[in-house]
Amino acid sequence: MYLLPCSCGRKIPVHLRQAGEIVKCECGTSIEVPTLSGVKKLERLEALVEPKIAQHHWTLGHALIFVGGVVVLFMVGIGIYLYISGPRDPYASFTPEQMIQAAATRTPIQSLRLWQMLERSGLEHHKRGAEIAFTDMQAQYRVYWWILFMVVGIGTALAAAGMIVLNLKKKKTGGAARA
Ligand SMILES: [Zn+2]
Repeated sequence: MYLLPCSCGRKIPVHLRQAGEIVKCECGTSIEVPTLSGVKKLERLEALVEPKIAQHHWTLGHALIFVGGVVVLFMVGIGIYLYISGPRDPYASFTPEQMIQAAATRTPIQSLRLWQMLERSGLEHHKRGAEIAFTDMQAQYRVYWWILFMVVGIGTALAAAGMIVLNLKKKKTGGAARA
């Protein structure tokens, strides 16, 4: 693009293909864009926007943010899987409503008899087995969650490092443009 100067002092950016056309300046003045060779003699806009374009290139900062973001997103997926497949409390399947209902429909004697029967049939033993399996699984999943949180931390740190790198670069190029 080229800059077409107006009598008001403004510079209107024009494309080479606009040669011969009439453009309107912000001040309201209509200016005729010169011929192709005339446009080519005008001040170029590219020289001014070049540093900006350079910032849009894929840099180390962008790569770090991308990798960090992918890692965090991937870990969110793993976290959802862990949450779904994770250990369930064997007693959590009994809702408080169910327990109240069960207690209300039984007399104390009935409850005692039921309890004695359950003890004889070895349900307590089964319950304990389920409990141990649950706590074992919980311990195992706690390790998984810790690993997951650590990886999320690493991913976040990578993305943060990428942002810092980009910011430093921006400051540097900004300073260079001013100098
Ligand atoms: Zn003007």
